[in-house]
Amino acid sequence: MKSLRKLSAKPAPSARRFLLLLLAVVASAAACSKPGPLQLRPRHVILISVDTLRPDRMGIYGYERDTSPNIDRFFGERSIYRRTQSSAPCTRPAVFDFLSGSLMPDERSSEQAGEAQDSVTRTLAEILRDRGFRTAAFTTNQNFSPKRHGRGYEAYVNFEHLTSPEQKQGTAYQVTDRALEWLEEHREESSLHLWVHYFGPHRPFFPPEKVRRYSRTSVVDKALTDHDRKGQTRPQLQAASPKGAESAVASVMQRVPQMTGLSEGVQWHLRGDALSPAQVKHFRDSYDDDILFADEQVGRLLHKLEELRMVEQALIVFTSDHGEWLGEENVWHHCNSLHGRELHVPLLLSLNGHPLTSTIDPRLATSTLDILPTVLDLLDIEAPHAMDGGSIRKLKPRRATISFWRGTFAVTRGRFKLYRGEFKGLFDLANDPDETRDLSESLPDMAEKLGLELAEYADDLPALVQENRELIERLKSLGYL
Ligand SMILES: [Zn+2]
Repeated sequence: MKSLRKLSAKPAPSARRFLLLLLAVVASAAACSKPGPLQLRPRHVILISVDTLRPDRMGIYGYERDTSPNIDRFFGERSIYRRTQSSAPCTRPAVFDFLSGSLMPDERSSEQAGEAQDSVTRTLAEILRDRGFRTAAFTTNQNFSPKRHGRGYEAYVNFEHLTSPEQKQGTAYQVTDRALEWLEEHREESSLHLWVHYFGPHRPFFPPEKVRRYSRTSVVDKALTDHDRKGQTRPQLQAASPKGAESAVASVMQRVPQMTGLSEGVQWHLRGDALSPAQVKHFRDSYDDDILFADEQVGRLLHKLEELRMVEQALIVFTSDHGEWLGEENVWHHCNSLHGRELHVPLLLSLNGHPLTSTIDPRLATSTLDILPTVLDLLDIEAPHAMDGGSIRKLKPRRATISFWRGTFAVTRGRFKLYRGEFKGLFDLANDPDETRDLSESLPDMAEKLGLELAEYADDLPALVQENRELIERLKSLGYL
């Protein structure tokens, strides 16, 4: 080091300068002839998803708190897709959609309905397994089913039970441990596909004591903590004054009109009206610490991929299935609506240790439906069926993204978002990000234009509306609609 410093401090003689220049030219020519990351097919495909993760609470997306240091360090600024939406605000359909690259309306209506589409839909793991990849998934979410989310995985382990904070934390370690073991065991294989899904900052918000940086258990009373950690939604709702709960529901329905359904989560969380500011802060802080904990586990996984030197030969995708309300408008939880707070998710890509493209157009709108088409494009595999997403390398920046939930579609293009189906409305996200002012009547041309974007999906709508008829009638009888 000493000699280098000395050399740089002292002006080099002209002959030496010439030699240095020549070396630089040779080195640069060598670098150019080397295939860039886009010219190399990745050998491995690693998909990492963290449940219920809002990008605006992650350091890499500009959050003031350092909640995701390992993820931030690994992916870096040039791998961030800032305008990514999920296709659904609820785990089961959102995840199956990104595993299949297709928006699956039936997946949302009942336990079995989606299976009718199984014969034509191929999942990421099925396609890669058929191409000789060794496949494994280690996940934790009780909504996953081996018959659907586990399709195509030779090894599929879903840690289901999350009734206590200890189990929630324990399964995160187990998921990582199993994934690390599997990577070690298969390190000599030519091609691997691994999917790891963490329960992450999903309720109950209960980060381990050792990672609590922003939250303190003492802030909140024990009864509330116990309630949240056990996830006792029903008993709590029944114990509440029915009148109080109903008026809270009606009040939010007015302010967040696109909530045309009432999930159990909404019903309980609308009782957020009763939470004190300190309690709201406590839950938000705990959510952030839960992200910190998920980041620690993702960090262990990324570290192993680095140690095995797989990063330089892998496509690594990081995302989430949906977002979360954190008490805005007194609403908590997800599976409620197609509001941006429930649909915005992180999307980070690393291809052979580099960003996927040299720059990312800040207007580029991406969807979790784009993940599978992007994988296939990079591996030069033809899609086995029509998919609703596209390869991120080839997308036009101002393309439309589509989501569906409970009889309602939402299409977003640029600053405008249109709802059609059970709920109808047009919102200007640039001026009204909270989606409170319906512009359907003042901007009819825009509504019609975006309505055409939905035309190709409209065939599915009548049946879905019919399936939701009973729920809608019930809501009307309660005066919510
Ligand atoms: Zn989820």
